[in-house]
Amino acid sequence: MNILLLGAPGSGKGSQAELLLNDYNLIQISTGDLLRQAVSKKTEQGILASGYMNKGELVPDELVLNILSLRLQKPDCKKGVIFDGYPRNVKQAEMLEDILQKEGKKLDIVFNIDLPFDIVLKRLLSRRICSTCGKGYNMISNPPKGNTCEDCGSKIITRDDDKESVIINRLEVYVENTKPLIEHYRNKGILTDIDGNRAVPEIYGELKEILTQKLGLKNQ
Ligand code: AMP
Repeated sequence: MNILLLGAPGSGKGSQAELLLNDYNLIQISTGDLLRQAVSKKTEQGILASGYMNKGELVPDELVLNILSLRLQKPDCKKGVIFDGYPRNVKQAEMLEDILQKEGKKLDIVFNIDLPFDIVLKRLLSRRICSTCGKGYNMISNPPKGNTCEDCGSKIITRDDDKESVIINRLEVYVENTKPLIEHYRNKGILTDIDGNRAVPEIYGELKEILTQKLGLKNQ
């Protein structure tokens, strides 16, 4: 099974992905996380990507596709993938369809997590992440117990692109490039809208119900 989580930055895609991957034995692929890893390793691709990421712009399609394709070649992807942050525009959606089709696979379901932008802004300003494993925290709704990650013990930081001016640009980029994907997938009949303005467990309960109803899936 392959799931796509759509939604503006800060809409809660990562939190839902974390829950889904445990219950349904899937892996999560976040192109944002893959790019941040490349940035912190200072690879050629990472250095190139960081210029776009720091401004809240999309990284060029070819570069992201390259990183994504390498990740998709790893054997654990056979279990099924939760895509988080990819595709970000219609061209990327078509490239993903091609890749999956070549393997005889498809996107089975797309959840569009919808949240008003004023709430997104508040969430992103209080968001923190682990500098090593990328685990997400929020200073209001899910604060870390100290200054270090409860999973791996590394330092907790604010993302470079979670500054107000960059967030506003990311939301504009979302409206222009990513939002059209909602209709793209609605037309394919695989999209379900989800009200993201609720607590994480409540949203997750609804996702599980929909997975049971639409795909006959029972969590493990
Ligand atoms: P995210 O962690 O998903 O919010 O992504 C952080 C940043 O990484 C974005 O603002 C983009 O600069 C870049 N990025 C992540 N995924 C993509 C993608 N699919 N296409 C282009 N840029 C991306």
